Amino acid sequence: MPLGKVLLSAEQIASRVGELGLRIRRDYEDQPLTIVAILQGAIVFLGELLKHLGAGVTVELIEASSYGTATASGGQVTLRRYGRLDVRDRDVLLVDDIADTGRTLAAVARQLEAMGARSVRTCVLLDKPSRREVDVELSYRGFEIDDVFVVGFGLDHAGRYRTLPYIACLDEPARKE
Ligand code: 5GP
Ligand code: MG
Repeated sequence: MPLGKVLLSAEQIASRVGELGLRIRRDYEDQPLTIVAILQGAIVFLGELLKHLGAGVTVELIEASSYGTATASGGQVTLRRYGRLDVRDRDVLLVDDIADTGRTLAAVARQLEAMGARSVRTCVLLDKPSRREVDVELSYRGFEIDDVFVVGFGLDHAGRYRTLPYIACLDEPARKE
């Protein structure tokens, strides 16, 4: 599948992530904050965001995979974590690349709450509200985009394109649901 047009330039992304970082830092002030980021798509966004969050932040990485078609997530979300994840009594900010159906964020947030987190907020770089199937509150959101499959800045297609410094559309044939 060929790369389509550039949707968001590296400069646009950096500037917006800086704004999000500032808001997050103000909202949490000196409260200890635990970031839980969802591999693998969130890695580049996470790295950019962390530059703006100060020294008091703890970072945890988890993996969440859902089964579905190549470009849309299915109903079931499986979580795996790296090492010990203790979020008891912690204020957690869940970071992911994109909210599409919302299933991933909703499932992970529910799990973090069940693990005893004091609060769970969500932060995504991209939001595709037209695709939402599950109600999930996005506390911090970079950009709202249309229903197009995008790659770059951490987002992949079949493992490729994650390393692009910008976000582009992927010109795919009609989506098969
Ligand atoms: P959800 O559970 O919200 O449907 O899906 C979230 C996950 O699906 C994201 O973390 C991301 O990995 C993947 N995803 C959803 N939309 C896109 C997209 O446009 N491009 C890419 N590369 N991944 C997407
Ligand atoms: Mg993902």
